[in-house]
Parts: sequence; structure tokens; C-alpha cells
Amino acid sequence: MAIKVELAHRVKSLPPYLFARIDQMKEEALKKGVDVIDISIGDPDLPTPEHIVKAMQKAVEKPENHKYPSYIGMYSYREAVARWYKRLYDVELDPGTEIISLIGSKEGIGHIPLAFVEPGDVVLCPTPAYPVYSIGTIFAGGSPYFMPLKEENNFFPDFSAIPEDVLNKAKMMFLNYPNNPTSASATEEFFKEAIELANKYNIIICHDAAYTEIFFDGKRPLSFMQIDGAKEVGVELHSLSKTYNMTGWRVGYAVGNPEVIAGLGKIKTNIDSGVFQAIQEASIVALDSDDSVLDQIRNTYQQRRDALYEGLKGLGIDAIKPEATFYLWTRVPKGYTSEDFTIFLLDKAGILGTPGNGFGEPGEGYIRFALTVSVERIKEAVERLKKVL
Ligand SMILES: *Cc1c(COP(=O)(O)O)cnc(C)c1O
Repeated sequence: MAIKVELAHRVKSLPPYLFARIDQMKEEALKKGVDVIDISIGDPDLPTPEHIVKAMQKAVEKPENHKYPSYIGMYSYREAVARWYKRLYDVELDPGTEIISLIGSKEGIGHIPLAFVEPGDVVLCPTPAYPVYSIGTIFAGGSPYFMPLKEENNFFPDFSAIPEDVLNKAKMMFLNYPNNPTSASATEEFFKEAIELANKYNIIICHDAAYTEIFFDGKRPLSFMQIDGAKEVGVELHSLSKTYNMTGWRVGYAVGNPEVIAGLGKIKTNIDSGVFQAIQEASIVALDSDDSVLDQIRNTYQQRRDALYEGLKGLGIDAIKPEATFYLWTRVPKGYTSEDFTIFLLDKAGILGTPGNGFGEPGEGYIRFALTVSVERIKEAVERLKKVL
């Protein structure tokens, strides 16, 4: 005898996992001994800088760090976040009310709808996109309304295409620039338009800024917090994951509107108990690093971007040159769907990319390559492509 285990509707109603087939194919290729060049993963291959690891080693030895942390983050951590925003973006934040620690930005994105979304409320979500925006919405009982990001619109949502009744029901809007997967960066005009919309329809903006520090050619992307009026309508979520090669550490923060931060804090006090203090202490050291640390990480990605972008262009492939993020968003050649081309690359060249439609239907016709392997491997990938295309 066993009980009947039935999944909740919110889990049963999750969209199918579109990468399952690709995962299976990768496994089969590896089993056959194929030397797979995996450029599908959005996880830095490089280690966390040594001075941060050293700081962690020291912090982990302190007994006071072995206790429950504060759920909103140590004051000294929140001060370090404020210093970081001041130094890099000239943005003033009050560590007392405008900053909260997160167990990675994914945690904040996943939880924030619980604080503000009622059943029946709409949350405006970009597509193609990081899936957590719409799934966090569904878990909170809300309805995602998908805003397509199209190349002809520079991968910005077209707010004028959203019906009035949807805007009236909209409670929150997620945005993400520099954007995963399209690699597009925001403009000041676009952010201003978003703030205007938010004010008109009373919408909370949650800007996911995971990639602001991974930029090329010295062109620093905007923080949403730099725009006049941003703090009146929303928050920015950020993390040390992509910035300092710290994806495994699980540490981030949300900053901005004090009421929104407090609402998110209410959820967090009741669900989690904050970030391990030793990680927060090491994160303070990371955030206070001098600019050479980030320059070095950016230079590595820039060499890879140049190698892959030039290589693809040389083969007549229509890649978009990213100004930020560690992704290349690339049109697949004529005659292929995203999935066809992904399978073709894996079968014929042992190269694994991510089919664009996996991020949402408007991603059909694209493939995403991640710059998370060495220049040598990227050059090898280009050589293999030369032989099969
Ligand atoms: C990687 C990523 C995140 C989440 O990173 P954390 O490790 O949870 O901070 C958030 N948004 C986007 C778009 C990402 O690609």
C-alpha cells in the first residue's frame, strides 16, 4: 500500500522542459565518446578570484558566523552593496531600507511575486527569457502576459502592443538588460518609457541586472537605478554569480524601492533564513575589489566573443555582436528550425548550443552560444563548423 501522490496544480501546469531532448542527446554523444564542445551553459567556467576564496576561508573559521544570519543581510554587507552602487553607477542607496540580501538573484525573482501578486493579477514577462519570471508568477497564482522581444525592436518589448485591459490588471513587470538570451542592452529612453508605463498603470518593475558587469569595448551598460524615477517604481536584482564567477555561492541582493524591498523581506522572513554570514563577509571583499578584478574577467570574455563572433561571421552565419553578457544570439541558417540546427551541430560537429525557442516561442529561428569555454575550444568549434557547413 502506498498513498496516492498527486502534484499540485501549480506544478502540473508548468510548461514542458524544452531542453530535455537536447540533454538526452548530449548524454548519448558523450557516451559514444564524442568530444563535445558545450557552449550551451550560462555558468562561468573560471574559478572565483583567489582573494575572495581566501576571505571565505577566514570567515568560515569564525564561530559567530556559524549562527543564523539576519534574513535581510548583515548591515556591513548591505553597506558594501551601497558602496558598490555608488562607485560603479553613482547611485545612492540606503543600506537600512533600500537593500536586502538574496540567496542568488534567482531566489529573489522566484519569491517576489508572492509578496505582491493576487490570483488573477497579470505579470508582464519578456519572452524569450530566463524562465523564472513567468514560473515565479504562476507559483504565486498570477498570470504571465508575455511581451515578445523582437530583433526589429532591438529586443525591447513593444509596450504599445499590450492591450489596455492587460495593463490595468498588471501588477508587476520583469525586465532584464543586458539581456539573456538576446545579449541586448537597455537604453535610457527605453528605461524611461518603462518607468512612465509603470507610473501610469501602477506596475512594480523588477529589473534583473545579472549581467551588467559583463560588458565589452569599455561600454558599461546602464543600471535601472541610474534612471530618474526608477526607485519610485521598482527594484533591481543583482548577484555576485556572473560578476565574480560565484554562481555556486548563492549570494545576491535586491535594491531600490523601500516598500517593495520590505514586501520581499516579509516573504523571505517566512521562507528562508538568509545568506550564510561567511559568504556575506567574503562577498564584502568581492564587492570592494579594485576594478582590475572585473577588467580581467571582462577581457577573458571579450577575447572569446571576438573569436566566436569573427569565426561565425567568416562562415556567413548571422550572429549578433554582443556589447554585453556572455552570450551570442545567432540566427540559424535558412532551412533550419532552432532545434534542427542545434541537433545538426551536435551530430555533425559535436558542438552544443541552446535552441532559441527553449527560451520562449519568439526565440524560434535563433540559437544561443555561451562564451563559457576557452578561446582554444571556441577556435576548435569554428574549425569544426567550417568542415560541416
Ligand atoms: C544566471 C541568471 C540569473 C541568476 O543568477 P543567480 O545565480 O541566481 O544570482 C538571473 N537572471 C538571469 C537572466 C540569469 O541568466
